[in-house]
Amino acid sequence: MAVEIRSRRLVITDTRDAFVLRRYLNDNERTIARPAKDLWKRQAKLVTVETAKQALNTGAVPAEWEDPWERMIREFVRDDITPEWLASIRTAGSRIAKKVNLLQRKQFDFDSTMTSVKGWIDDEGGKLIVNLTAGQMGSVNALLQDQIALGVTSPYILAQRIRPIVGLTEREALAVARFMASLVEENIPANVVNSQVANYAKFLHKNRASRIARTELSNSYNFGQMDSMRQAVAAAELPGEPEKSWMAGGQNPCEICQGNEDAGDIALEAAFPSGHLHPTAHPQCECAVGYSARR
Ligand SMILES: [Zn+2]
Repeated sequence: MAVEIRSRRLVITDTRDAFVLRRYLNDNERTIARPAKDLWKRQAKLVTVETAKQALNTGAVPAEWEDPWERMIREFVRDDITPEWLASIRTAGSRIAKKVNLLQRKQFDFDSTMTSVKGWIDDEGGKLIVNLTAGQMGSVNALLQDQIALGVTSPYILAQRIRPIVGLTEREALAVARFMASLVEENIPANVVNSQVANYAKFLHKNRASRIARTELSNSYNFGQMDSMRQAVAAAELPGEPEKSWMAGGQNPCEICQGNEDAGDIALEAAFPSGHLHPTAHPQCECAVGYSARR
């Protein structure tokens, strides 16, 4: 790691670190994407003809789906996502500590057992469980209402149509439903319809799993950097006022992230214009932060 002093400013992270973050996401994406796809497969198995009959009778998502889905999502966040959050917080935090030590000739260690880290994981875990559960209920309910409106009365057909969309967003689920309807209209044989729908849903599942994985890893990585900077400040390891600047990711950053980047250098504890202390600002945000300290 090169040491840079730009106009009496210690550069702790810069565009090279944004590159390192993206490489981290590429290398570790599967650690969350794979269990996400497994989760949706297990959840879809609960959509049986018997439970679909109940959904048709009541016109609502049955408790036989909702309760175990919620429990499975909770386990997914606890057993699959939390360890990966912690790993990326440690990786990012230690990298900042290494750079601070290089610049300051100190022996500062990032401590991932701090209450700030535990608090972040608890908060984010709680929010994620609520969001994933609500999203799933919303999209399955939307598809159920869509099928009822289309006049579907066979629980066998309903189960066949709901199973492939478990785990997709509402928009994706309805796109699958429309795709299926268009194939049926063309009088394509049922087995061909089913395999084409399965392929389309598989493609959407793969993309969604990747989106969730990258967003969660990026969020925790960025938190790890921020927390390490705070620990460095608390340990008086920095020579002066710490600052940060938003580095928008990709060729065409969105308005939110561009606005954050345009704000330039701000104080470590200040919020960026979007209201965020660090990325991510939205799902699939792959922005990074340049940290520095003025002497
Ligand atoms: Zn962004």
